[in-house]
Amino acid sequence: MTETVTAPTERPSQIKPINHWIGGKLVAGNSGRAGPVYNPATGEQTGAVDFASVDEVARAVAAAKAAFPAWRATSLSKRSEIFFRIRQLLHEHRGDIARFLTLEHGKVTSDALGEVARGIEVVEFACGIPHLLKGEYSEQASTGLDVYSIRQPVGVVAGITPFNFPAMVPMWMFAPAIACGNTFVLKPSEKDPSASLYLGELLQEAGVPDGVFNVVHGDKVAVDALLEHPDVDAVSFVGSTPIARYIYSTATSHGKRCQALAGAKNHMIVLPDADIDMAADAAVSAGYGSAGERCMAISMVVAVGDAAEPLVAAIKERIPKIKVGSGLEPDVEMGPLITREHRDKVASFIENAPAEGATVVVDGRESAPDGGGFFLAPSLIDDVKPEMELYIEEIFGPVLGVTRVDTYDEALKLVNENSYGNGTAIFTRDGGVARQFQFDVQAGMVGVNVPIPVPVAYYSFGGWKASLFGDTHIYGPEGITFYTRGKVVTSRWPDPATSQVDLGFPQTR
Ligand code: NAD
Repeated sequence: MTETVTAPTERPSQIKPINHWIGGKLVAGNSGRAGPVYNPATGEQTGAVDFASVDEVARAVAAAKAAFPAWRATSLSKRSEIFFRIRQLLHEHRGDIARFLTLEHGKVTSDALGEVARGIEVVEFACGIPHLLKGEYSEQASTGLDVYSIRQPVGVVAGITPFNFPAMVPMWMFAPAIACGNTFVLKPSEKDPSASLYLGELLQEAGVPDGVFNVVHGDKVAVDALLEHPDVDAVSFVGSTPIARYIYSTATSHGKRCQALAGAKNHMIVLPDADIDMAADAAVSAGYGSAGERCMAISMVVAVGDAAEPLVAAIKERIPKIKVGSGLEPDVEMGPLITREHRDKVASFIENAPAEGATVVVDGRESAPDGGGFFLAPSLIDDVKPEMELYIEEIFGPVLGVTRVDTYDEALKLVNENSYGNGTAIFTRDGGVARQFQFDVQAGMVGVNVPIPVPVAYYSFGGWKASLFGDTHIYGPEGITFYTRGKVVTSRWPDPATSQVDLGFPQTR
């Protein structure tokens, strides 16, 4: 631990003010607007996060713009060295970061540590920035003429992030963006904002110059100010589909490049030849991990033919063994939901399921822990049909639906006709069918006997259809593409004595 880094506290004696991070300093908000931050496990308000005004956002963008020329001129080897230090500090303080996540998001410690670990992998990828920015060179493309390509940073990048990964998703963005030579303004979720400030302190300690990484908190006012600011050059967004659609259209109409990753409804197909226990373990893990608040959570199990009866029974058998409670308790496996309103909305899908014609096999409202926390235990709903609300909506909670179909083709059709196309998985022992599924399925991330196929850091993450607005996926090679602009240089060093006027179009042969 270092002197400068503020460690999280479990029980603040009073409501903690949560400020902006601009130009390497904490800056108290002056808009007169703030939002509540809760400990979802107790229901208590623990913080009040400043909501930035248009002027405060402009101040952060100005800090980022001022830092850009020196940062983009910083050598690749120096940037790489700083990223190795960031990696080391994140690793040393991973427990503290995870604690912020548990206290404000509610996820259990093991899950929070997993989030931090997957974010660190993206930072590790960024350590190799000298290699990642290598261009191409063609000697003698024409006689005495060489052509080469280089990639340069775009300028000031804004990142707008969701509540469900308060550390990892910001790392998906700022690590490649900053490594490429950009400067960055993060607008984290107002529901769990503290981890982002802690990351700012760690980046500063690692040697990131002031102004290269900034954090402004807030709501639509702050987001719109970023989308409309003429000095913001690129916008990365991760969040729900309606907001992603809005962000993409607004950012691009203001001349910015934009990638907006959005919501999901991830299907897991289980074929009759699958190992039913393995499939049930996977469905339970991927459906209820992080209380279902993951864009890669499995929310629909598609049981094919004879798989249905034993699979539903095996999932049902596992549910009572899941320990639900405060994420700080060591053996708890599933924490609360993010807010009381969200918990109540998720519960309403269970309430309405019988009227829609579905069968509630396990009702999580019945065994949720008592007290003020925003808890809902795992629920299992069978006989879900595509026209039902609980199939159409992204529930984003610990509610696993099961749809029964007769054939693989029907299962594939369900996935392909769904408006979302983020992740999907197939469980089978037949390699040929799995290969065909990979070929046919309309989704960006596919798991074969893997329920949460989040790509490793050296591939890119992103969905299809209503799960992504824009062309590039996030982090990995596509992240480097998004955060840089290509430039091609055509160069020759002729003898001036050979020079002559030629009005014809330049030819290469
Ligand atoms: P959200 O869309 O409500 O919020 C995301 C961000 O947008 C936040 O910073 C929020 O302050 C801001 N925002 C909210 N309303 C806004 C508005 N009207 N105008 C401008 N900005 C606004 O999402 P959330 O509830 O924080 O996160 C959950 C959602 O994110 C789910 O839909 C989930 O699937 C999705 N998600 C997607 C991915 C992915 O990679 N595809 C990853 C994680 C989460």
